[in-house]
Amino acid sequence: MNNTLISCKNLCSSYEGFKAVDDVSFEVNEGDYLCIVGDNGSGKSTLLKTILKLKTPSGGSITYNNLKADDIGYVSQAKDYMNNFPASVFEVVLTGLLGSKFKLLYTKNDKKIAMEKLELLGMEDFKSKSFNNLSGGQKQRVLLARALCKTKKIIVLDEPTTGIDKETTKILYFIVELLNKQGVTIITVSHDLENCLKDANKILHMKQKCLFYGTKEEYLNSEIGKEYLK
Ligand code: ADP
Ligand code: MG
Repeated sequence: MNNTLISCKNLCSSYEGFKAVDDVSFEVNEGDYLCIVGDNGSGKSTLLKTILKLKTPSGGSITYNNLKADDIGYVSQAKDYMNNFPASVFEVVLTGLLGSKFKLLYTKNDKKIAMEKLELLGMEDFKSKSFNNLSGGQKQRVLLARALCKTKKIIVLDEPTTGIDKETTKILYFIVELLNKQGVTIITVSHDLENCLKDANKILHMKQKCLFYGTKEEYLNSEIGKEYLK
């Protein structure tokens, strides 16, 4: 039996009447690695923001099973975060443990968890460095460590490697795949078909509407998949 974590049914998400996401249905099961593809402006980021409850659906439904929206870790588009983030790497990772609670002091256990995640991402040597001074790929690793502090159930990534060099991109996807093998459910938007498609088990191809949703194998054999991957 597949354990469904997120189920979207006829989901719509709009900006002032414009349906950026239009009638999209899919499921995310425990252990899935879902890759969302589609041209620029096809509604991929809007879909993620709606799943993350950063945006309210304008139609349809999202059901969370054994999962609160809070249980979802989020790594935003590489270009999205502020470049002026005056904090150390360790402090940035620790903020992943804030959740919705306001707290001034972190516990010993918080710090232990944050350190474990930094080690997992191979960034422990950068602990005291300023986040601002890291390279794009290093920043994404730190933000992935931060997301893992929040949850190890499900991680959502939105074009995590845009603007990042080839070698670092490979490393990031290697880490994401490793997390998936350890049981973390992955939802990622990616243009990097070479790295991302290799590891994904499901594909959602969007153009406001859902052009394709199914297994990777089905996608690779479909007309739309063949056309997109040409
Ligand atoms: P993608 O991530 O696939 O590139 P987006 O979800 O960012 O697509 O955008 C989908 C559509 O919604 C685009 O036409 C975009 O211009 C529009 N859009 C995105 N964000 C906003 C916003 N904050 N206000 C109005 N329109 C938006
Ligand atoms: Mg986007």
